[in-house]
Amino acid sequence: MSNILFVASECTPFIKTGGLADVMGSLPQALKREAKQEVRVILPLYDEMDDIWKDQMEYLTTFDVQLGWRKQEAQLFKLEYDQITYYFIANDYYFTRKGIYGYYDDGERFVFFSHAVIESLRHLDYRPEVLHAHDWQAGITVALANIMKPIEEMKTIFTIHNLKYQGVMPLHIFDDFFNLRREHIAGMEWDGMLNCLKSALFHADKITTVSPSYAEEIKDPYYGEGIHTILQERSDDLIGVLNGIDTKEYNPSTDPNLFVNYRSARSKKRQNRIKLEEEISLPYKDGTPLYIIITRLVEQKGLYLVQHILDEFLEEDVHFVVLGTGDPEFEIYFADLANRYPDKVKAILSFDEGLARRLYASADFFMMPSKFEPCGLSQLIALQYKTVPIVRETGGLKDSVSSYNEWTGEGNGFSFMNYNAHDLLNVLHYSLTIYGNTTEWQNLLKNVNKSQFSWKESAHQYAEIYANLVPESILG
Ligand code: ADP
Repeated sequence: MSNILFVASECTPFIKTGGLADVMGSLPQALKREAKQEVRVILPLYDEMDDIWKDQMEYLTTFDVQLGWRKQEAQLFKLEYDQITYYFIANDYYFTRKGIYGYYDDGERFVFFSHAVIESLRHLDYRPEVLHAHDWQAGITVALANIMKPIEEMKTIFTIHNLKYQGVMPLHIFDDFFNLRREHIAGMEWDGMLNCLKSALFHADKITTVSPSYAEEIKDPYYGEGIHTILQERSDDLIGVLNGIDTKEYNPSTDPNLFVNYRSARSKKRQNRIKLEEEISLPYKDGTPLYIIITRLVEQKGLYLVQHILDEFLEEDVHFVVLGTGDPEFEIYFADLANRYPDKVKAILSFDEGLARRLYASADFFMMPSKFEPCGLSQLIALQYKTVPIVRETGGLKDSVSSYNEWTGEGNGFSFMNYNAHDLLNVLHYSLTIYGNTTEWQNLLKNVNKSQFSWKESAHQYAEIYANLVPESILG
């Protein structure tokens, strides 16, 4: 058993904007359950978090965080939830804003958070053997842990959940916010900027990412987001471990958000669909398949492909619902689409966990034609709710969805390879053909029902990585 400290910027059920939060909210439990690891999690304490969580927290201490020539105060809180210990770092300036990201000084905010995490190690009632940081917001903790050695023997792991977001800011931040010798700039600088993600890639003992395919892809310039040469250099230390989902949390037979709970019965999915379409004011039509998208509305999710062909696909007898928030360009597009097809299309431009669950439960098809996808959890959730995923063959989508093959009867979804709108349209038409053929459709659903993406296997893979890092003499 090793002592692991996860560092991240979001975690369910406290605060979530995307898949990172789902992983932070379920992997520690899985590591405990499946591989007997002690994992604790440290997060920023955002004003945005619900009071029900804040009210349960135990105040531990207040300490100063030195940022260049100035100091900021941090308060440390603790909360036990679902058998896991969480620590939270509060600060009156950086985390008292609406939402959690999207501010001009996000870089500085998470540089502060990272310094505070390292400083907090002196105050915690816990001595981690491995600091496991997730995504750019936690990247600087890896660099500081390696340079400052707050715990001499502590090892570091950095997990890339999305290489696109790197936490890039002007280099003068190094002088203003760090108390390190100038020689350390080299490990943190990339392309003339201070880069949080690169800092972690440079300093981490091991680097992981969230699917085997993405681990390969990011060494290539097309997927490498300008940083592939570093990943090539560190190739021997880069491991892809496929994410799982919390199958207790995402369980259609117990999910309280649904109108009707079910295991796999299509009739019960239909009952959910009828009530859902009533809820969102879409006129239900028997026999018409429901296609959905639930996502952050950003280019990554393949929305330009969708935009290019959706009018043509809507000539078919189908319903389409999108739930998402993000780039105004896509919000405007989907709102306009819904106006033009009031009987077929609904665009719900908000973040709504309950509605998302009801959509997963009601839909026949889940569309996720991503340009790139480190792992993707939505397609796993869709499968869990017996909804057929339609994906582009990239990253974790490629590792979790295989295209249905009429001749062999194999495959749990539909997929296409090239980033090409007409390839998406073709596969959408093909999905409709299979939907209309009872034998093929039943075959496909059998495969969907068998798909399982729990954390079990991946938890063991992480445990092995920890065991290789921490010499046995230190293991408890
Ligand atoms: P990413 O992390 O890139 O956003 P993932 O597929 O890994 O993509 O995870 C997305 C998670 O966020 C899923 O749990 C999905 O259901 C959820 N989600 C995305 N947009 C919304 C929304 N508008 N309302 C509710 N849940 C959403």
